[in-house]
Amino acid sequence: MSQVVEQGTLYVISAPSGAGKTSLVAEMLRSDEKLGVSVSHTTRPMREGEQDGVNYHFVSRDTFEAMIGRGDFLEHADVFGNYYGTSQVWVRETLAKGREVILEIDWQGAEQVRRLIPECVGIFIVPPSPEVLRARLTGRGTDAPEVVERRLQEAADECSHAVEFDYLVVNDDFGVALDDLLAIVRGQRLRMTAQQVRHKGLLARLSAQG
Ligand code: GDP
Ligand code: ADP
Ligand code: 5GP
Repeated sequence: MSQVVEQGTLYVISAPSGAGKTSLVAEMLRSDEKLGVSVSHTTRPMREGEQDGVNYHFVSRDTFEAMIGRGDFLEHADVFGNYYGTSQVWVRETLAKGREVILEIDWQGAEQVRRLIPECVGIFIVPPSPEVLRARLTGRGTDAPEVVERRLQEAADECSHAVEFDYLVVNDDFGVALDDLLAIVRGQRLRMTAQQVRHKGLLARLSAQG
């Protein structure tokens, strides 16, 4: 018997580079097996410790441009001089199965996704201060000093778009920020539109009693 599946929730998470978005999302996935993250394509060089197909699909500029031409991306953007893009097919198919999907993308990509999927939930993550952001980006030890400087310069621009998102999470204490993110997901699951589908039978029985 065919069953109408409620379209899954799409979370769009943005933050200045170094705010802790990747670490927080990794922890969200460990805490809640119902959440899935979209693996983006990028032309930036692979960092030490990263794996192709896990952190990103690492591709050449030629391949990326061919993919743009084929309409393979839901959104794509030039961030810090490299291309980044989200797979159209994977996101659409996963949402159609009723799964929850997280996109970790920059503000330009978030703007495109908001236009295409207006019901998406936007979350912006900030560090507690500019000094802490610098310390985290330097301390992460994955980028050359000039790359760190460029990312810090772009941070102000990224943060000026924070108000376009539905939620703001301050990543000072990691555990608190993680709880905040999981609370947003939990709240979203309790919304009437989702609960009505999940508990259709219960609501029908309760309404019919007596
Ligand atoms: P990190 O965020 O500092 O770990 O650095 P990355 O090189 O992994 O990402 C740089 C920027 O690209 C971040 O602002 C990401 O949010 C953004 N980004 C990653 N994937 C995508 C994508 O698929 N689309 C868009 N538009 N931005 C992306
Ligand atoms: P992003 O993906 O936003 O660029 P990362 O997740 O790579 O950020 O985090 C940047 C660095 O800051 C990493 O070395 C990470 O371990 C560290 N970090 C993340 N959150 C916190 C926190 N609340 N307190 C201290 N360090 C943190
Ligand atoms: P890993 O150590 O597993 O290679 O990757 C980083 C992990 O460290 C993240 O998933 C997260 O659980 C944890 N982490 C990163 N930064 C902090 C932090 O400042 N405080 C705490 N408590 N955990 C962190």
